[in-house]
Amino acid sequence: LLLNDLVAALLIGLPLSAVVHRAHATADRLLIAAASMVVIETLTRVAAMNYLVGSNDDLAAFGESIYAVVIQITAGCFGVLLAAAAFGSMVMRVMLNYRRAAEIDPLTGLYNRRGLDQALKPIQGREAWSGVIVVTDIDHFKQVNDRFGHAAGDRVIAAFALEIKTSIPTGAVAARLGGEEFVICLPEASLAEAGVIAHGIRLRFAGRDWRQFGIDRQITASFGIASVFDGEDSAHSAIKRADKALYDAKAAGRNKVIWHGGHYEPGGSIVDIQRLVGDEIRRISDGS
Ligand code: GH3
Ligand code: MG
Ligand code: MG
Repeated sequence: LLLNDLVAALLIGLPLSAVVHRAHATADRLLIAAASMVVIETLTRVAAMNYLVGSNDDLAAFGESIYAVVIQITAGCFGVLLAAAAFGSMVMRVMLNYRRAAEIDPLTGLYNRRGLDQALKPIQGREAWSGVIVVTDIDHFKQVNDRFGHAAGDRVIAAFALEIKTSIPTGAVAARLGGEEFVICLPEASLAEAGVIAHGIRLRFAGRDWRQFGIDRQITASFGIASVFDGEDSAHSAIKRADKALYDAKAAGRNKVIWHGGHYEPGGSIVDIQRLVGDEIRRISDGS
């Protein structure tokens, strides 16, 4: 029985020391406090019993009773369970951190290419899914790097990503494809909605004052948009079409939004589009 308790204390103590290194969240700290108390209680109880049993006949009889055996075993088992829970929580956290590092771009906090693939899987798995893809790239970004330095360039990329993040609806997926090129997937959106979102990002980005970053010129971005066709089981073809439209936007002079095919084919009526664009422009001029 004493051995059982000592093993339990050891089993709790070892993962506990590993968890201590990574304890940030309140829940972790509580878990550590609870587990520490189990370790201290077990060790003191074992030591006290060991010392007292020899000097007290009543305690010796108690030590041999079924009740004493049962509570020692259950205390040991709960201790081991607690240790397993603490260890499991630590392993889960470490795994989540690794996964995050593999799928998230550190500069922008958006998905990287691999993260995008993972995030699109459940969307593409929906029956008869639809959506619109927006691909965007900052204009003449090499000049920004050359004139204002790589660090200033990084800040522009991060600010552009934040602009994207705050402009897209819940359920949309945004990723940095590398360099200063980004993709946005808008599930179940119409071309009109995608156009409004792209124009919103374009206008706000082009209107930014970069002087706090030591940049004294306007920076713009170009956008290509393409719908996912009926029956397409992946967004990849639509990303390619949006990329082609982005190329057309660059060729047409940059700071533009171009739909794949070069024409506008919205689901809604022209009145809907005017209303959507009107709302967006009002929102921008309100500064909200
Ligand atoms: P365009 O209007 O045709 O897009 O012209 P551009 O100069 O933006 O051309 P391009 O998109 O090819 O340039 C990408 C540049 O972005 C090249 C590279 O030096 C720079 N770049 C790529 N990744 C990073 C990064 O993480 N940080 C910074 N600061 N620059 C980057
Ligand atoms: Mg560029
Ligand atoms: Mg580029």
